[in-house]
Amino acid sequence: MNKQNVCVVFDLDDTLYLERDYVRSGFRAVGIWCAERLGLEGVQEQAQALFDQGRRGDIFDAALDRLGVGRDAKTVSTMVQIYRHHAPHINLLPDVVKCLARLQDRAYLGLLTDGNAVSQWAKIDALGLRGRFDTTVITGEWGIEFFRPHVRGYRYLESQLGMCRGRFVYVADNPIKDFSAPYTLGWNAIRVRRPASLHEHLKCSSGLACSEVSDLESVPDLVFEMYKTQF
Ligand SMILES: [Mg+2]
Repeated sequence: MNKQNVCVVFDLDDTLYLERDYVRSGFRAVGIWCAERLGLEGVQEQAQALFDQGRRGDIFDAALDRLGVGRDAKTVSTMVQIYRHHAPHINLLPDVVKCLARLQDRAYLGLLTDGNAVSQWAKIDALGLRGRFDTTVITGEWGIEFFRPHVRGYRYLESQLGMCRGRFVYVADNPIKDFSAPYTLGWNAIRVRRPASLHEHLKCSSGLACSEVSDLESVPDLVFEMYKTQF
């Protein structure tokens, strides 16, 4: 079957898998390292409790505090590296498997995500997604100044997939940063608001995303509706 000249671009975290599963997996890896190398038990549990309470940005410092050991910049830096470089235990959600299977070979597929490039590639490999997209963009490979909402990643996809001639749809979860650039470029957008996702509580300004869905199962039909293309 020939591909239609339409490109569906997916975000990664909390769009194709649940980010809190990655966080749990990372804390587990750090906890094992602390137990084996430092003889320090309980790091995973403390970090997870802090995360569940909404703590962000200095979770490992705070976990060491709670365990009554002094903060040490080198130890915390190593913990961050362990977290970022670990091979994560995460899975594609069932609706994602169905959505990608329906779109594969019928539309061009893209992936656009921010974050540390090593971490994001480790997630892509753990999910079995390497090679599944026509174009993959991890803005962390260019520098944090190009993280969304910067337009560079979206423009790069347009340049790589010129045959789609502006027929792009972005599927993502975070109204704060994901949708303003595609809006200015004239893309369509679908916001996925998954139960238990980190940004589930955020509302999307009207007009930024064309549709809001709780999973990706209906995405192929929505894309069909947008472009009157038969999948
Ligand atoms: Mg996301």
